[in-house]
Amino acid sequence: MRQVNHWIDGKDTAGTSGRTADVFNPATGEVQAKVALASKAEMDDAIDRAAQAQVKWGATNPQRRARVMMKMVDLINRDMDKMAEMLSSEHGKTFPDAKGDIQRGLEVIEFAIGAPHQLKGEFIDSAGPGIDMYSMRQPLGVVAAITPFNFPAMIPLWKLGPALASGNAVILKPSERDPTVPNMLAQLFQEAGLPDGVLQVVHGDKEAVDAILDSEVIQAVGFVGSTPIAQYIYERAAQTGKRAQCFGGAKNHMIIMPDADLDQAADALVGAGFGAAGERCMAISVAVPVGEKTADALIEKLVPRIEKLKVGPWTAGNDVDYGPVVTRAAKENILRLVNRGVEQGAELVVDSRDFSLQGYEDGFFVGPHLFDRVTPDMDIYKTEIFGPVLSTVRAGSYEEALKLTMDHEYGNGTAIFTRDGDTARDFASRVNVGMIGINVPIPVPLAYFTFGGWKRSGFGDLNQHGPDAFRFYTRTKTVTSRWPSGIKEGSAFNFKAMD
Ligand code: NAD
Repeated sequence: MRQVNHWIDGKDTAGTSGRTADVFNPATGEVQAKVALASKAEMDDAIDRAAQAQVKWGATNPQRRARVMMKMVDLINRDMDKMAEMLSSEHGKTFPDAKGDIQRGLEVIEFAIGAPHQLKGEFIDSAGPGIDMYSMRQPLGVVAAITPFNFPAMIPLWKLGPALASGNAVILKPSERDPTVPNMLAQLFQEAGLPDGVLQVVHGDKEAVDAILDSEVIQAVGFVGSTPIAQYIYERAAQTGKRAQCFGGAKNHMIIMPDADLDQAADALVGAGFGAAGERCMAISVAVPVGEKTADALIEKLVPRIEKLKVGPWTAGNDVDYGPVVTRAAKENILRLVNRGVEQGAELVVDSRDFSLQGYEDGFFVGPHLFDRVTPDMDIYKTEIFGPVLSTVRAGSYEEALKLTMDHEYGNGTAIFTRDGDTARDFASRVNVGMIGINVPIPVPLAYFTFGGWKRSGFGDLNQHGPDAFRFYTRTKTVTSRWPSGIKEGSAFNFKAMD
């Protein structure tokens, strides 16, 4: 059986805790590897080693650190296919989607090449008589990234690029469900010239995470995952005074106005609702058509498109629209929620509860489901299902659709489909959600903007990637200086203006 070890001080390192977790092939249901789960002692040791390595790395000039990122871009491109195959086999997503996962992470490494520019401080001369004032951005020290299963390359890279380029050492605790690609990335960082110990990949579960949270050495935690865990991490990290940005779950609404191009809207909904089996934090899980006529026409267009979707293993190549979900437990939870929707009175227009894929009966495949006439009190509306299930909530007016979106506890992404510029502008300006699409169903900002949700989709301050990431991973120091020739007076006992 293949073993997935930790990556400590630049070496593949077997765990000593004696605890492991199964890594599945979601397409077949078979266990394909065992991943080590770190004990608190193993995590503490990896953190201490990272702290030692950080001293030199933090003092390395920014352009040298940026060169590691430059090299990394080439190496990721070189190994893209190899990593995408591993990613698909552990996660289940299609091969093109796995490449997209790596590509969107790679773009943040490209952005991190600009670290010297991002890390520049501010300066003003003659702030007072003979007085200059400047600020500088310094690395925090050792920081941690705790990442989810659904983007096992992209999200680690979102954290690693800015954190490492800023001069920090990083403890990466990836999801234990698809842990191999993070190790491959760590190996590439070594090849790109990152000194050993500056990036430690430590696998584990709650015990490893708690050791990070309670560590006095770790200065900041970047978390991405489900909302209850995001909140837990945020609160526990604060107890030792850490910086924390913790991104959580989502229930992204897409409003379809009566003037929208309904074919475009239906195509967009199918891609955004069912791509990656709905296991994206930016997936659209709620369609909100405005007006009964729009709703009837939309459902009519959605049904044949959804019924045509091809579900299968990534090895089937381009013939597949989406693959299995990540675990058997995830599959069971999705089907439980679909049944709950039926019990609570939603209309299951596309019902795939009996779906089974010939030859892959033990795989974690879930067929596509479409609900109509969902209401806000139903569990399928309130809960993040994280599967191939699209709910339709009919709204009587634009204001009603907007209010629905605003009242939901999550606020990650949302979209509006319309031809009317005024409505689109009003929506973008008023809605309390972090990322907005106008006739774009999955509005994931590019690397040089920032990514982050509002409400219970994000705890803490500053977003991921873009300039915010460099602010999150550095501390500002401000220096006021005056040289002896500029000192005209003796002691001063009061605060006073500098002029
Ligand atoms: P998860 O919360 O189960 O796990 C995330 C990380 O937390 C993993 O590394 C896991 O090992 C760790 N963890 C799990 N339980 C823990 C516990 N009790 N104590 C301490 N650590 C624990 O999330 P997931 O299932 O891996 O990922 C899917 C979730 O992530 C969805 O809710 C999705 O919306 C969300 N997500 C959000 C974003 C975003 O940017 N907002 C992006 C991607 C995914």
